[in-house]
Amino acid sequence: MKALAEQAGRDLEDASALEILQWAAETFGKRFCVTSSMEDAVVAHLASRALPGVDVVFLDTGYHFPETIGTRDAVEAVMDVNVITLTPRQTVAEQDAEYGPRLHDRDPDLCCALRKVKPLEEGLKGYAAWATGLRRDESPTRANTPVVGWDEKRRKVKISPIATWSQEDVHAYVDEHGVLTNPLLTDGYASVGCAPCTRRVLQGEDARAGRWAGRSKTECGLHG
Ligand code: SF4
Repeated sequence: MKALAEQAGRDLEDASALEILQWAAETFGKRFCVTSSMEDAVVAHLASRALPGVDVVFLDTGYHFPETIGTRDAVEAVMDVNVITLTPRQTVAEQDAEYGPRLHDRDPDLCCALRKVKPLEEGLKGYAAWATGLRRDESPTRANTPVVGWDEKRRKVKISPIATWSQEDVHAYVDEHGVLTNPLLTDGYASVGCAPCTRRVLQGEDARAGRWAGRSKTECGLHG
């Protein structure tokens, strides 16, 4: 499977996002899903064109903005996708009781491990491949993202169909297809994560500068 993923990454580097997802649908069928942070529904929309009724996996950390949950609900209501909401083993209150309040301030890596990484690992068990909305231009840590690659940690094919897109490409697709987006994107947020770890970005900052601002952390561990 690893060799297949790496070969596909080379073969599909210049393919369109839809062609990449059509390859995924033909290769993996229902053993393929999309993960979405509900920042926008661009990849879910593309995937639903390639595979109507595709599973869209959403991690409900318990710390999301209401706008993000609303976007999830709207996607579920209007799109031809099957939204699957994953939740951590513990509620926020249970986590606070075991680790103390505001773990996200004291040990965000542990908080992300408990509320994102572990639930995703469990949720992806039935799939051979998963698609993300990663883009190379979002931050230096994402500059080498392959359109199709091998996720060694989870031993699955990882597909990033819009890896080569710019922010302008995303806007153009949203406008052309009337795709749902999180309302926070028009309220100063360029990247939307959990509320305690996300702030608006300043002019000139990169899209992910508002995530874990002021801390050394730049990624939640889902893509490491
Ligand atoms: Fe916790 Fe923040 Fe990670 Fe969300 S982004 S899981 S609140 S540390």
